[in-house]
Amino acid sequence: MKAVFPGSFDPLTNGHLDLIKRASGLFEEVIVAIATNTAKQPLFSPQEKMTLVNSAIKDLPNVSAVAIPSDLTVNVARKLGAKAIVRGVRNVQDFEYEQGIAAMNKQLAPDLETILLFARPEYTLLSSSLIKEVARFHGDLAKFVPAEVGLALKKKMESDD
Ligand code: ADP
Repeated sequence: MKAVFPGSFDPLTNGHLDLIKRASGLFEEVIVAIATNTAKQPLFSPQEKMTLVNSAIKDLPNVSAVAIPSDLTVNVARKLGAKAIVRGVRNVQDFEYEQGIAAMNKQLAPDLETILLFARPEYTLLSSSLIKEVARFHGDLAKFVPAEVGLALKKKMESDD
């Protein structure tokens, strides 16, 4: 079965990557779908996010990445031939948010299943927004993001200083 893992990935964190790896063990194929337009003002362009995700998944043979144009996730999943939508849950807030999305997606596309994976305990407090905040003040990101992401963040923040 093919699964799609949609998200903003602004930027990809070790929490996202852990989910991708675990999903790659559950599904024949996993497609990381990078949202190109979200309500959130992104730090990284879709191309930059693609480069960072591709670098992180290079050793995972059944994982690929696509940048998705503005569309419903269920339409994206159908176009990609995916039967499952993978998302992550870190806490009660995530649960309620994901429950709402999953309920809507179920009504829009009853043939698709949302599969929620719990974040690993060490990643439950990790978010892209917190990472950007730490990067802004030049904190050490080594434990939280892949090395390429850390470098890309450093460059972004240096150009902002
Ligand atoms: P979105 O804007 O679509 O929520 P994100 O990139 O913030 O995109 O998150 C994509 C998915 O990954 C969401 O389901 C989110 O709950 C999950 N996620 C984010 N950070 C983590 C983490 N540290 N551990 C596990 N799942 C996470």
